[in-house]
Amino acid sequence: MRYADLLREYGALARKAKKEEEAIKILMLHHSKMAGNELYLRINEIPEPAFLDKFKEDCQKYLTEEVPVQHLTGCDYFFGYQFIVNKNVLIPRRETEELVEHTLYLYDEIFKNAPVKILDIGTGSGCIAITLKKEIEKSAIWATDISIEALEVAKQNAKNLSADVNFLTGSVYEPVKNKCFDIIISNPPYIPEAEDVCNLVRNNEPHLALFGGNDGLKFYLEIINEAKSYLNKRTFIGFEHAFDKALAIKEIALKAFPKAEIRQFKDMQGLDRFTFIINN
Ligand code: GLN
Repeated sequence: MRYADLLREYGALARKAKKEEEAIKILMLHHSKMAGNELYLRINEIPEPAFLDKFKEDCQKYLTEEVPVQHLTGCDYFFGYQFIVNKNVLIPRRETEELVEHTLYLYDEIFKNAPVKILDIGTGSGCIAITLKKEIEKSAIWATDISIEALEVAKQNAKNLSADVNFLTGSVYEPVKNKCFDIIISNPPYIPEAEDVCNLVRNNEPHLALFGGNDGLKFYLEIINEAKSYLNKRTFIGFEHAFDKALAIKEIALKAFPKAEIRQFKDMQGLDRFTFIINN
């Protein structure tokens, strides 16, 4: 059987099992160690038996168990960088890449390539902090998380990607008392505790990273209301949030920073997803 036949066969099984067809391709790329374009060129070749065993075993797991494909491959891609992921960290979401994009644009607009100190709160896998370090040459980055296990993953990711980030354990600002920043970024846990979450997420991703109190606003309140002690003069705070919380977060922001400019953006799906509080 050629790669093409395997893709077709297992793709059909995925559709039948109501799973992501894309996952089959991810497993094929992972086990064949090929980049997308290489697989495309060699799609009519017949794979080695060693590949076949591993590929089929993981496809079987993916199709029959409730497991994210990223936990089978042990990694995910964020902004083109490869990150290790496991049960201790949130799997990076595509929206979060957009949070980083907006942050980069705003950095250019406001700081114009000047040196900046950035704080990423609730860093998880470290995807935001590490990507910002890679993309903003003159940045010094601090990243906090309450989970020691998550920070172990983040530190390994930083090492693999040669990114110099200061990872500190503790809740929100606790580990950075007495420090001031130019930019604060966070994709905090924002699902209300009582909300329904599909089993694939609920059974595989850390609840610490998912749930943000009764209304999902707990961390926004804490981050915004305490921000003043941790901010320099010209600053911005950038958040990812639930699609139905844009207004609530804007209100919290204007209460704490009445003179701030608030910019809000939708994600690729057209949902209100990002809020920036700019003190310029
Ligand atoms: N900052 C990490 C991410 O965006 C983790 C976020 C979280 O755990 N809520 O993926």
